[in-house]
Amino acid sequence: MAGIDIEGLATVYPNGVRAVDGLDLTVADGEFFALLGPSGCGKTTLLRTIAGLENASEGSVRIDGADVTRLEPGKRGVAMVFQDYALFPHMSVSENITYPLKVRRVAAATRSSVAERTAGELSLQGLLERRPGQLSGGQQQRVALARAIASEGKVLLLDEPLSNLDARLRLEARTFLKKLQRDLGITTVFVTHDQAEALALADRIAVMQSGQLRQLGSPREVFARPVNTFVANFIGSTPMNLLDGAVVASDSGAVSVAGGSLPASTGSVPTGAEVTVGVRPEYLTLSVASAGDVAGPAIRGEVVVAENLGTSSLVSVDCAGTLIGVTVPEEDEPEPGTPVVLTAPEQRVLLYDKESGELLA
Ligand code: ATP
Repeated sequence: MAGIDIEGLATVYPNGVRAVDGLDLTVADGEFFALLGPSGCGKTTLLRTIAGLENASEGSVRIDGADVTRLEPGKRGVAMVFQDYALFPHMSVSENITYPLKVRRVAAATRSSVAERTAGELSLQGLLERRPGQLSGGQQQRVALARAIASEGKVLLLDEPLSNLDARLRLEARTFLKKLQRDLGITTVFVTHDQAEALALADRIAVMQSGQLRQLGSPREVFARPVNTFVANFIGSTPMNLLDGAVVASDSGAVSVAGGSLPASTGSVPTGAEVTVGVRPEYLTLSVASAGDVAGPAIRGEVVVAENLGTSSLVSVDCAGTLIGVTVPEEDEPEPGTPVVLTAPEQRVLLYDKESGELLA
């Protein structure tokens, strides 16, 4: 079982920056695990501390059950792919792939069969004699991955593996990486600041801020139920609406917001309490206001502008002076100025503490 267990981990740089600040985390055997967070939150430092490229100041790292906290990188059973791939420009693809084996004095014949096999797994056939400078960005990225895989680490660590690729190649490489990880079943931790990439690839995501873990969960969990407004803001291609609100009556299950109200399961939040109401644009339903209409809590407003997102549109609705975003199928995009009504299912309306930003209900 090549899982990773991290306990009470802190990594403090000589200048006193606590880049990783007391972190507990378990990555399961075979899991595809994302470390996600804004620039400077400590994700690269965490990855490098797992690899042994930075020293842990406190706490421990266990890989496959063994405490590796004080082991040098080469003895930890990890293979790492760096953001810039760190390929050797003067070596062929084949030599690059098998370099870790050469260091371990593996025989040339074995090395060349590993190069052939790994090149097959990573669609690099026919490129083994080229040098990195003669490859596309996507091919270079696959050589870096091939080298990591050929080293037969128990754990694969990837630092922003797709960030050097252009948008189209990136999508292709994403699919490729996901399938490769599935096929090989190797425990993989990857760092990204791109929430869409983390949502698309990972089995589970750890969202970090200031060296600490803010939320750990499946893509579905962190998307649908962010535990605080930081995660709510960070996850999602269109930002979550975070609105000033108040609990209308805790037994009626509604919160008032600009332009009306929404149904909400208020839990133990008392009547009259002021809260931040979180609701994703994807979970709001927009209907064109007509006579009588919607029963139950709803928000009224007027369409300001619609932004085309491809197959859907993000519609900004002015609700008593507050802009609320709602996504609709492209063909249902209303004209600016149209009076509309917004509703949402109760379970999609989240209440956050106005001060701390923590999820209340
Ligand atoms: P990015 O996405 O920008 O790479 P990150 O989340 O990976 O950011 P880290 O690179 O781990 O963040 O940096 C975490 C904190 O540690 C930052 O405040 C950074 O300035 C600081 N830091 C990183 N490397 C060093 C270093 N070698 N010496 C001192 N401070 C450092």
